[in-house]
Amino acid sequence: DTIHANFAATVARFGDREALVDKATDRRWTYAELHAEVEKAAAGLTTLGVRKGDRVGIWAPNCAEWVFVQYATARIGAILVNVNPAYRVHELEYVLNQAGIHTLVSARSFKTSDYAAMIEEVRPRCPTFQHVVFVDDPQWTGTGIPDVELDRDDPINIQYTSGTTGFPKGATLSHHNILNNGYFVGELLSYTENDRICVVPPFYHCFGMVMGNLAATSHGACVVIPAPAFDPAKTLAAVEEEKCTSLYGVPTMFIAMLDLIDGYDLSSLRTGIMAGSPCPVEVMKQVVERMGMREVSICYGMTETSPVSTQTRTDDSLDRRVGTVGRVGPHLEVKIVDPESGLTVARGVPGELCTRGYSVMLGYWNEPEKTAEAVDQAGWMHTGDLAEMDDDDYVNITGRIKDMVIRGGENIYPREIEEFLYTHPDVLDAQVIGVPDAKYGEELMAWVRMREGAEPLTAEAVRAFCTGKLAHYKVPRYVHVVEEFPMTVTGKVRKVEMRAKSVELLG
Ligand code: ATP
Ligand code: MG
Repeated sequence: DTIHANFAATVARFGDREALVDKATDRRWTYAELHAEVEKAAAGLTTLGVRKGDRVGIWAPNCAEWVFVQYATARIGAILVNVNPAYRVHELEYVLNQAGIHTLVSARSFKTSDYAAMIEEVRPRCPTFQHVVFVDDPQWTGTGIPDVELDRDDPINIQYTSGTTGFPKGATLSHHNILNNGYFVGELLSYTENDRICVVPPFYHCFGMVMGNLAATSHGACVVIPAPAFDPAKTLAAVEEEKCTSLYGVPTMFIAMLDLIDGYDLSSLRTGIMAGSPCPVEVMKQVVERMGMREVSICYGMTETSPVSTQTRTDDSLDRRVGTVGRVGPHLEVKIVDPESGLTVARGVPGELCTRGYSVMLGYWNEPEKTAEAVDQAGWMHTGDLAEMDDDDYVNITGRIKDMVIRGGENIYPREIEEFLYTHPDVLDAQVIGVPDAKYGEELMAWVRMREGAEPLTAEAVRAFCTGKLAHYKVPRYVHVVEEFPMTVTGKVRKVEMRAKSVELLG
């Protein structure tokens, strides 16, 4: 189906149920009210001259207007282009031109960024760019919405990847791609109109707009926006006040929330999703035990695949739910291949994970060569992630191919060492990278964030902690204690930056 048809069906069925809550401004909408806002925005975009296939950019933190524009563009067949809230002038200009954006919906400012000034600065250099509308005060005009033929395979969305490993790429996605993905994510969490989902990740990323918004609206559930950008205390307060049943986050967000949960009543929580980067078993266990998210799920995927490929089910055993990324989703295929030969490997053997099915993007926007590198002739998306599959089809992600360390000829998966460091009582968060080494090719370095009040870990202390429990070549040679890791807006640790900084540190 198209996103609009699906949304209209939910409105017809659940019109008087709550659809959306924006805690920052304390506003709330039923499905009928949300529908009215969507129609207003769709008419407003039409008045500005936006037609089917035109690109409408959205550059704003999480807010209700973001959701209105998401469904308004789907209503008129315009292609929504999610622009990263962290962008600055140079990147904004790139994306406006790369996607050929006609109208940009933006916030006047966000945190320390003056968006309005940046937009004026780039405007003369962006020939397709006609209008800007600010979410602070949108003032849509007009009522007419043209009759448009919508097809489920039309492009409806350009989502840029997180930019964890390099410059973000714009994945072009259809109604069919993302609506199905959101729907099945919700199915596997048993969402109904009684669920209230606290969506913390940015809407600009698929985690927020597909696994959050589309999963919710396709099941008549309610989306609660706790704050414009991640704030652990506001999120916990929103879960308590709104009696949320589901909570989303990348691992680092859950780590921050777990540090603060004392005193909050989170008893309404039933489920939720951790995804986006390797989910440490220790953190998952605490989410189940201390946050009461008995049916929490791990999802694995990427922007290019709408995004989810594998997911743990609510009835999977606890071990599997905290320790794997689950099994392949409905109507999708997953295989694990030897990156060199391309042949499928045996169960239990690590290789590159490939996905095929309805979820695979139409392509990178205007970049056919890059598309051909990522999606092969037979339709398999090559993810660049290393994984293994067990005898019962559960998948374990061992890390990104680019992050694997080769020390003295041994392949080392930083993930395994990170998991082990998490079990140290003073460690809040740990990341392991490879740094160049004259003797071994690469050596391991651990970046560590300490719990409050704990003494900074030394390399000797880490060695003592690991010795006898990890093979000698997996014991990090260097330890670097930091307050924060370099992060993307989507909450992913930028190992590229950590490696560059480490090389500097080691001189
Ligand atoms: P870029 O492609 O621009 O470098 P990115 O790959 O981080 O950035 P996304 O599409 O947001 O951009 O993220 C997809 C990647 O996130 C996957 O390829 C995988 O490496 C990682 N990932 C997602 N979910 C999980 C998970 N549950 N466990 C481990 N890794 C995950
Ligand atoms: Mg990627």
